[in-house]
Amino acid sequence: MHYTEHHISMILDAVKLSAERHRNQRRKDADATPYINHPVSVAEMLWKVGGVRDTNVIVAGLLHDLIEDTKTESQEIRKLFGDQVLSLVLEVTDDKRLPKAERKRLQIVHATGLSTKAKQIKLADKICNVADITWTPPHNWTPQRKMEYLEWSAEVVAGLRGCNHILEDEFDRVLAIAREKIKD
Ligand code: NDP
Ligand code: ZN
Repeated sequence: MHYTEHHISMILDAVKLSAERHRNQRRKDADATPYINHPVSVAEMLWKVGGVRDTNVIVAGLLHDLIEDTKTESQEIRKLFGDQVLSLVLEVTDDKRLPKAERKRLQIVHATGLSTKAKQIKLADKICNVADITWTPPHNWTPQRKMEYLEWSAEVVAGLRGCNHILEDEFDRVLAIAREKIKD
């Protein structure tokens, strides 16, 4: 695949917008890691582990939590990155008007119906979160709560299978390590 100046520009624009919009947010770990580290890790997972070479998928990975967690409008993403990127971001965005438990249930229900590209983003997101739960977990979570998160993400990932075998194997590997680490 040949990358042009346009592809690099899009990626830099996505890093910049994501950093700007998430600037006051932190992860839930003890060190309160800047939130931007997470979407960058998701994009890196897609590129380095998953071998994903579609720029729209990498860009949507960088932007995947913008509509859900920041004051960013769909129109802004469409204008800067186009319809395809917007539609991928919307596919991985929960409906924040619904109660938390319902949103979690719907992630499981909707997983199989996502496009292959959106499935790859969701899978990379779950791999990164399971790794975070293992090594830099939310500071106030009990082992039971961590285990519940692992079991829920495994249910979501069951519906994502068939989109990228390397990422699926990586999820299984990271999940096994998480279960081992958390049970003792
Ligand atoms: P979530 O389960 O949604 O929190 C996990 C999410 O937080 C991840 O998906 C990730 O989302 C983000 N995140 C931020 N920092 C980290 C980190 N360091 N490691 C991993 N993930 C991180 O929980 P909420 O706090 O929003 O709580 C609501 C839900 O939890 C409800 O369903 C409720 O029923 C349940 N709950 C369970 C309790 C229990 O003890 N079992 C107690 C209280 C609530 P992203 O990819 O978007 O960054
Ligand atoms: Zn995420």
